[in-house]
Amino acid sequence: MYLCYVDESGTSDLPGNTSHFVLAGIAMPIWHWKDADREVETVLKRYDLHEEELHTAWLVRRYVEQGKIENFEALDRVSRRSAVERYRVGELLRLQKKGDSKAYKQAKKNYKHTAAYVHLTEAERVKVVEEIASVVSNWGFARLFAECIDKTHFDQAKARRTVDEQAFEQVISRFEKYLSRTPQLDGRQNFGIVVHDNNDTTARKHTTLMRRFHTEGTLWTDVDHIIETPMFVDSRLTRMVQVADLCSYALRRFVENSETTLFRKIFARADRVGARAVGARHFTALSCACEICESHRIKV
Ligand SMILES: [Zn+2]
Repeated sequence: MYLCYVDESGTSDLPGNTSHFVLAGIAMPIWHWKDADREVETVLKRYDLHEEELHTAWLVRRYVEQGKIENFEALDRVSRRSAVERYRVGELLRLQKKGDSKAYKQAKKNYKHTAAYVHLTEAERVKVVEEIASVVSNWGFARLFAECIDKTHFDQAKARRTVDEQAFEQVISRFEKYLSRTPQLDGRQNFGIVVHDNNDTTARKHTTLMRRFHTEGTLWTDVDHIIETPMFVDSRLTRMVQVADLCSYALRRFVENSETTLFRKIFARADRVGARAVGARHFTALSCACEICESHRIKV
């Protein structure tokens, strides 16, 4: 039995504010789950993040106030936190006084999403994400399934499905194919279940799609090995969905900005048949020669 944790990066809206939409699933046999979870927690503990959500995009961004606090990096974690918190209170008061409600709201949102991480320097925050990507990279038992859609190349009328639907259909098809060629050790058929972050719009859409796949199959395959509709969980509480978030972030930063550090660690887990990375696809111009496209093209 496999669990496939799924999360997305970028927006599926057209055009939206990102050029790509990425849906990624990281699948593992249930008997490896506990060890995998423990390994991630061990890294997070070193950074005092084990009780916090791992949200990659918020972790790795620049927090401007950290640069404004004198000798920030030399302070210990407790002092860094209190210095940032003091600075942020002052900044919110300043924006309120100024009557700039847009900037005030934006600052409040940023502060809320990054509050758990302010005791770490930018270098440490980048490092913790890299360390977790390295942990994932070494999970020989895990497989990555992903669809990275270049929205500038996507024709909804031709595809006859939305960006979001295509991405979900592709990830499900690839997970299904992996399960169908990977029997259990005793030869019995393997099964999988999809675990997804619970947000209202996706939950409804993906549940409906999954029901359809069960009766009609996807464009690519019948679905016989994935059971039920996706299980929706609170991503703030489910570490492996946060790991899927890291995977989709790493893929998007690669296809949009050619950032390779996180990508190569994550891509090492892409499902492969021979040398061909069948588990991940970059949906873009045929001429694309990126690592995903190149290794998706290799003949099996
Ligand atoms: Zn490509």
